[in-house]
Amino acid sequence: MTAVSPHDDLASVLKWYIDQGLDETIGEEAIDRFAQPPAAPPPAPVAAPRAAQPTPMRAPAAPLPLRAPVPLESPQLVEDARELARRCTTIAELEAAIRAFEGCALKRTAKNTVFADGVPGAPVMVVGEAPGADEDRLGKPFVGVSGQLMDRMFAAIGMSRERDLYITNILFWRPPGNRTPTLAEQAICLAFTRRHIELAGPKVLILAGGTAAKAVLDTTEGIMRLRGKWTKVRLDGGGELPTLPTFHPAYLLRTPASKRQSWHDLLALDKKLRDLGIR
Ligand code: URA
Repeated sequence: MTAVSPHDDLASVLKWYIDQGLDETIGEEAIDRFAQPPAAPPPAPVAAPRAAQPTPMRAPAAPLPLRAPVPLESPQLVEDARELARRCTTIAELEAAIRAFEGCALKRTAKNTVFADGVPGAPVMVVGEAPGADEDRLGKPFVGVSGQLMDRMFAAIGMSRERDLYITNILFWRPPGNRTPTLAEQAICLAFTRRHIELAGPKVLILAGGTAAKAVLDTTEGIMRLRGKWTKVRLDGGGELPTLPTFHPAYLLRTPASKRQSWHDLLALDKKLRDLGIR
């Protein structure tokens, strides 16, 4: 019989956590809560002055923690993007403006501008993070392995990008080596993405993955807490859009045990569309 070391035990506990989707660390140091004195009541919040930021898309009713203002080397680039986007009155104009925009450094290393796929004006709009290698090569969002998984997931509730979905990302250019986009890159592209959502006019918004969810909802809350909970995004032109954050399909490929939760999210989407009289 082989002796089992304490390390094996720890490794299997860790694997179990990861299989359950608990792969996000909240802090660098472990907190020994037994050693802590009872928490004192928090001091009254002092409103910190925020630098000029876009109107948060999250509706005020949802009490999510706000992101701090993005430290930008050039806040003017965000202003330029916002102004250009505001002037566009159609999706075609917006696409042309993004293709002509030179204010995001990612464009210099990308092969293609990846704008959107699916049906503009479809009832469901999906916003992901950024193009990967396949998307960069083909110029369309979600066409690689994670996009194929996403297609199969939507097909399971009878939806397809050819008929029911409009798909984009918060970034229009692939970050080199698929690194996480910086907050500055996100802020610049998000100015266009906000307008994109308004012009596409979906009935429901799906945010695929933590980066898209945090950016569009302007929150520090992680996807583990956000997913599966309906929230609302307030559009600059007025109106609120029912919004569901969910896991990114690339995460599901790494963590198949989380597909169960994503299936719940798909069923919640199906129900929402039925409640809205769309299906
Ligand atoms: N991941 C994304 O977030 N978007 C894509 O288009 C492809 C992979």
